[in-house]
Amino acid sequence: MADKIQSIRGMNDILPDDSPAWQFIEEKLRQLMQSYDYDEIRFPIVEKTALFKRSIGEVTDIVEKEMYTFDDRNGDSLTLRPEGTAACVRAGIQNGILVNQQQRLWYMGPMFRHERPQKGRYRQFHQMGVEVYGLDGPDIDAELICMTARLWKTLGLSDSVTLQINSLGTPTSREAYRGILTEYLQANKSLLDEDSLRRLQSNPLRILDSKNPAMQEMIEQAPRLMDHLDDESKVHFTRLCAYLDSVGIAYEVNTRLVRGLDYYSKTVFEWVTDKLGAQGTICAGGRYDGLVKQLGGRETKAVGFAMGLERLISLLAQDDIEQHYKHPHAVMLMMGERAQNAGFALTEELRNAIPDVCILCVCGGGSFKSQMKRADKSQAEIALILGDDELDNNVVTVKYLRAEQGNDKPQQEQLSQQQLIGLLTEKTQ
Ligand code: ATP
Ligand code: MG
Repeated sequence: MADKIQSIRGMNDILPDDSPAWQFIEEKLRQLMQSYDYDEIRFPIVEKTALFKRSIGEVTDIVEKEMYTFDDRNGDSLTLRPEGTAACVRAGIQNGILVNQQQRLWYMGPMFRHERPQKGRYRQFHQMGVEVYGLDGPDIDAELICMTARLWKTLGLSDSVTLQINSLGTPTSREAYRGILTEYLQANKSLLDEDSLRRLQSNPLRILDSKNPAMQEMIEQAPRLMDHLDDESKVHFTRLCAYLDSVGIAYEVNTRLVRGLDYYSKTVFEWVTDKLGAQGTICAGGRYDGLVKQLGGRETKAVGFAMGLERLISLLAQDDIEQHYKHPHAVMLMMGERAQNAGFALTEELRNAIPDVCILCVCGGGSFKSQMKRADKSQAEIALILGDDELDNNVVTVKYLRAEQGNDKPQQEQLSQQQLIGLLTEKTQ
């Protein structure tokens, strides 16, 4: 036997049993976006490597060690997108939809990062993201937080997640703080790990994002950016808090929250859970007013977030997902060769007559017993049985497979095609 080719580590198949959960969450997200009047944008999975280097930052985990980068046949360096924001900005600039406009956009799809695979951390994973352009107030930051809070509520997850917010200030206030932080880190140099030592000069803020347990106490004691904000950033943050208070969204100000990407300014936030171990962040985002210009566009205010769908799905209750399993309304069983032809055509006619109907046609024939087994497995409500007798009498035998039918109703009856269409139409409403 030939060797079996395996999938790539950290890149998973989503099997038929898993897809109802994905469809469920995707549908909820589409509904949510519709209710806030956001528009979908789709951009390619592969982009030029320079796009991510310039936006995410050279000295970040993603760019330093997580990107899937390869040479195209013509020698161009390309990268599988590790996140959506950079590509969204690139698409916005390139298609001229940002200048003097407001855009409220969302996207959903696979992202790629070469990380150590573990629960909640994969090499191909999925994000749903939202990006807003052309609005600079804290009200839109608050809107993004509100829509995520609404999602948790819809999914029954409000008690499982908490909101952390922080402000990274304007680039000017961050520059001033950088000096103060570097001084502190220099004084504590002996406590820094290899990554952090390297970042001490190039990107000291990134050190605050370290997950190394041995460094947490030192990070905890570090001077806080929150104490060095300029007035503009302070006002923005205070007003954001007021908006959240006004709609009753609880939050924790986490002055250590810096996020793993360089492009953020002012507001940053994360929704975290203690139910997923170390992989506790399910949604994260913030304001990135400088990025559009940095990528060659005209200055455009921007704010967004992304959520990890694998982590979100693993928080969902199995019951909610099961309710979403779609079973066929009917299964067509056909006994004998004549019935096989007639039943095949009849099933198509039923689909013509009732656009929303879902019928499983048991193809390939077989004994009544084996076809009934398939019918049971499909969890359809009714079996439609067609044999020579039915054909001669122009009827179809309908067998009710679910107990809910009740004792007073027949478990089986014969219906004309017209009656059958009536019955199935009812089932689809
Ligand atoms: P983490 O700190 O867990 O590495 P991150 O800060 O790198 O996350 P972001 O770049 O902000 O993550 O991406 C937003 C969300 O996407 C995360 O909060 C998480 O839910 C999800 N996510 C990120 N990386 C992965 C991954 N490798 N596998 C699964 N989900 C991921
Ligand atoms: Mg990460």
